[in-house]
Amino acid sequence: MWGFESPLSHHQMDGREHRYDRQMRVPAVGPAGQERLAQARATLIGLGALGSVTADLLARAGVGTLRLIDRDVVEWSNLQRQTLYDEADATATRTKVEASIKRLRAINSEIRLEPRPFDLTATNHRELLADSTVLVDGTDNFATRYLLNDFAVITETPFIYAGVVSTYGMVGSILPPHGPCLRCTYPEPPASQETPTCRSAGVIGPAVSVIAGLAATRALQVIVESDEIQGNFQYIDVWSGEHSSLRAPQDPDCPCCQVRDFAWAEARRGTRAAEPLCGGGAVHVPPSEQPPDLHATASRLAGSVEALERGPSFLRFRSGELEVYLFADRRALVRGTEDPGRARALLSETVGS
Ligand SMILES: [Zn+2]
Repeated sequence: MWGFESPLSHHQMDGREHRYDRQMRVPAVGPAGQERLAQARATLIGLGALGSVTADLLARAGVGTLRLIDRDVVEWSNLQRQTLYDEADATATRTKVEASIKRLRAINSEIRLEPRPFDLTATNHRELLADSTVLVDGTDNFATRYLLNDFAVITETPFIYAGVVSTYGMVGSILPPHGPCLRCTYPEPPASQETPTCRSAGVIGPAVSVIAGLAATRALQVIVESDEIQGNFQYIDVWSGEHSSLRAPQDPDCPCCQVRDFAWAEARRGTRAAEPLCGGGAVHVPPSEQPPDLHATASRLAGSVEALERGPSFLRFRSGELEVYLFADRRALVRGTEDPGRARALLSETVGS
């Protein structure tokens, strides 16, 4: 027979047209909502525990484009809760973006995936977050959340806040210009020494699933333009069953959405000091002044370091028990130590930054 086989007839033959059937039967979604999902771009910031689960749910739901931003690599300590990754990813220490793309592509080959293996900063956030239908929080730090809040208010982009630690967590919907922004409710980020992290307090997988499920629900509500979009903050402890809801009013003196002082977006706030990562056993070093030419650096290091390897967006090598990743966006990750000074010393003696 002449001509091309219609994709529809192919789909009818293998049942693909039923992919979203059960979801479209939910009246709040319906065929119109499904079409909105197909047209949407959800930007996920962070592909750790929460980001793994929300990315999986949104990919399966048929969100047309997922933009995936993460700065980290897969480690063994991630596998207990970061459901996109497996032992092969940890063995190969793949970047989380690279490993997620592989997994999400296998889950749904019909959606677009936009890999962004970068550290989100005040300098690059406008480009990385642009043209998003919704921003979904999978970060592990408040500086990035306040940066996301600034961007959400400036560009009137919905932002779904999510955080989890130990057995409890919280979600919130920031829906500018309507309702309170993050700073109306929480004017200042908590002091870092007061904040339990998944490193200091641990975290259980089920708490991640519940909080990520609530965050993905809110992202779906925004995308399908539901009449019932929740604008509150919701807290749940999955172990005790305790839960509460907080709906703060818009603060008429809010430094962000009212005074419009965007301290994080304008890089007047937010620390980018070298910091140990939540996964443990690694130090993240913020961008150096000089953009590294990965190719030239690889040539220069050849012979003087072990296991030198070029990835799609990074350069990797070993020096004794330490392993270094240099990323194209100028930051570095040093594994095998939690001492920022030792990480910086190794970088200056090898790559000279
Ligand atoms: Zn506000």
